[in-house]
Amino acid sequence: DIPVITIDGPTASGKGTLADEVGKALGYGVLDSGALYRVAGLAARRAGVDLDDGDAVAALVPGLDLRFQDGHIFLGSEDVSARLRAEATGLLASQVAVHPQVRSALHQLQLSFRRLPGLVADGRDMGTALFPDAPLKIFLTASAATRAERRYKQLISKGIPANIEGLREDLEARDERDKNRATSPLAPAQDALLLDNSALGIEESVTQVLDWWQQ
Ligand code: C5P
Repeated sequence: DIPVITIDGPTASGKGTLADEVGKALGYGVLDSGALYRVAGLAARRAGVDLDDGDAVAALVPGLDLRFQDGHIFLGSEDVSARLRAEATGLLASQVAVHPQVRSALHQLQLSFRRLPGLVADGRDMGTALFPDAPLKIFLTASAATRAERRYKQLISKGIPANIEGLREDLEARDERDKNRATSPLAPAQDALLLDNSALGIEESVTQVLDWWQQ
């Protein structure tokens, strides 16, 4: 059996950083499932497909020429990594993620990331829909103010202009859509351990997860 650790939670709660660090510490692979929804949203927008048309967006998924290389994501020959991380792409992702057809089109692709010696999977439904048998499930939260501030600092440090109020509005809009959709809404798995990292540094969060894993 391939061990899987799932990390779910709202936008900008620090799932990606935590998943990367835990993956590194254990030598496990990492699945950033949000990146796949971001690719689907970006591809749909570029193809001029109506984002509200679940069948049309899902139909694009099998034809996506995706490649994962050294932490970069290529769509065809284009490195779309920076594009995918943009806030605007996050909004596109949450729009296409409401469609059950899109979610099931991405299901097998996500499962294919499971390889020895193990996987750390981060997203919204890793512990509920994708890996319900995972032996360790984390639900990571932080206050909206903390999350907006972190996202703000991240952008500013990269020289990208940002507005903290606007960021908070965007992430709250995304959370609302993620929590209220009919298919795989954002919610902790019944057996998830809750981790609120509002007052924790990244090392402390990593240590907590590794402690739970060793128990
Ligand atoms: O995690 P990230 O911010 O990259 O995810 C972008 C969007 O993709 C989320 O707001 C959510 O709507 C969607 N998503 C999802 N299920 C996942 C991962 C992401 O619905 N497992």
